Amino acid sequence: MSQSVLSTMSTAATGTLVVTDYLNFWGGKRVKPREEKNAEPVFEPATGRVLCQMFPCGKEEVDEAIQSAHEAYKKWSEMAGMERARVMLEAARIIRERREDIAKLEVINNGKSITEAVVDIDVAWQCIEYYAGLAGALSGQHVQLPGGAFAYTRREPLGVCAGIGAWNYPFQIAAWKSAPALACGNAMVFKPSPMTPITAVVLAEIYKEAGVPDGLFCVVQGGAETGSLLCRHPGVAKVSFTGSVPTGKKVMGMSAEGVKQVTLELGGKSPLIIFKDCELENAVKGALMANFLTQGQVCCNGTRVYVQKDIMPQFLEEVVKKTKVIPLGDPLLEGTRMGALISKPQLDKVLNFVSQAKQQGAKVLCGGEPYVPSDPKLKAGYFMSPCVLDQCTDNMTCVKEEIFGPVMSVLPFDTEEEVLRRANNTTYGLASGVFTRDVSRAHRVAARLEAGTVFINNYNISPVEVPFGGYKHSGFGRENGQVTIEYYSQLKTVVVEMGDVDSLF
Ligand code: NAD
Repeated sequence: MSQSVLSTMSTAATGTLVVTDYLNFWGGKRVKPREEKNAEPVFEPATGRVLCQMFPCGKEEVDEAIQSAHEAYKKWSEMAGMERARVMLEAARIIRERREDIAKLEVINNGKSITEAVVDIDVAWQCIEYYAGLAGALSGQHVQLPGGAFAYTRREPLGVCAGIGAWNYPFQIAAWKSAPALACGNAMVFKPSPMTPITAVVLAEIYKEAGVPDGLFCVVQGGAETGSLLCRHPGVAKVSFTGSVPTGKKVMGMSAEGVKQVTLELGGKSPLIIFKDCELENAVKGALMANFLTQGQVCCNGTRVYVQKDIMPQFLEEVVKKTKVIPLGDPLLEGTRMGALISKPQLDKVLNFVSQAKQQGAKVLCGGEPYVPSDPKLKAGYFMSPCVLDQCTDNMTCVKEEIFGPVMSVLPFDTEEEVLRRANNTTYGLASGVFTRDVSRAHRVAARLEAGTVFINNYNISPVEVPFGGYKHSGFGRENGQVTIEYYSQLKTVVVEMGDVDSLF
């Protein structure tokens, strides 16, 4: 048997990391690419070196993966929820046991700090544990009808679901999608981002080790073309997509052709509103959490920071002071808080947003420049210093578009009415935040913000028990929380007659 992906890894520090090129997984094992054409190199963002090659799956490979998922689905969907729960709990246990190694692999392929990656892995096993808990509780309703007749409902799985992920939370996204899917009795074929193809395979290997039927969680590699094959495949019942708004629209269009259910977790440009009566130190910490996690590459980041005019000078002073000392560099070191961006093109794109902001009149208070760590092995990494932009206005590109990098745009405001109007003046609606000590104001503002999540006096916390998802162009459907069961199952009504048929004919 071939070695697992996790065991082919050693630390980046020794320079001996070997990651296999065989990153497809179906039928309970890793599968060699059928053709070695169209290979794309997979990079380590912190060093710029090539980790392995990603070979995109073509039609025949996608067919094979979906076929194997269907076979597993037959067995898995007939098991009792409690039986599925036992297997899922074992998977959660294995992830917890190997959290450090999985986190290290995530850092190597994604560039985020090890401290954050460990949290991501913890959130992943917690999600699997949470849905294992719900698997045994899935049930229908009994409805009494006249004359002794009755009806009952069955909560049934959908079949084979496709999961398509972004590169910012590779392992966690795979867990967030597969956990509720598997709990409900579905199988899943997952396609990670071509930039972060590795850790989804680790998850597949762990599910296998925990005892899921072969084929229950498959991984196909590739980009847009492979993703389209999944969305258009008649053997796929549902598509759960995480990525940008333009791709989400395409996914929805393709899924519509087959009348498939879709969940869309898309981008954002979320507002964070800081009132003058806030606890300033917490608001500053909240603004940093809202902007600089994963080098700013977080969908729900609060990148439009509206600060009430009276406290603007103090806020800026504190936020800049703290931003300047964020430990930036080798993401594998415990003390590091910000690592490298995902790719060279992404780094260039974010730096370009900063230049454009300057041209449009914003003032850079700190950062916004390429950063070269002193460690020679990190010289070719995709680092930049976290940036705070002052004197921003609502019509600037940096305020309107999702930058997906460590760039905070700060905007002044006067009144609650005004800031709500400005905060809601966007097609996005993923998240939002408010800092105030006034309880009535907090809930009044929360009710009026047009977003799937409102954080009051904190930002960017996503416990698995709590639903997560967007309003407006940021998508629909939810991940996490009990409600997600509804997005991975369908309700069957069974009507039972106990007497004679009362026919009109
Ligand atoms: P992307 O839209 O470029 O790609 C996302 C995924 O879709 C990748 O796996 C990609 O290969 C695949 N894909 C691309 N074209 C496709 C097509 N035509 N058909 C099917 N699949 C296709 O996004 P990205 O650059 O990987 O990720 C960044 C974006 O994701 C940001 O906009 C961010 O806000 C968003 N995001 C949202 C959430 C959320 O939960 N709402 C979480 C993470 C990231």
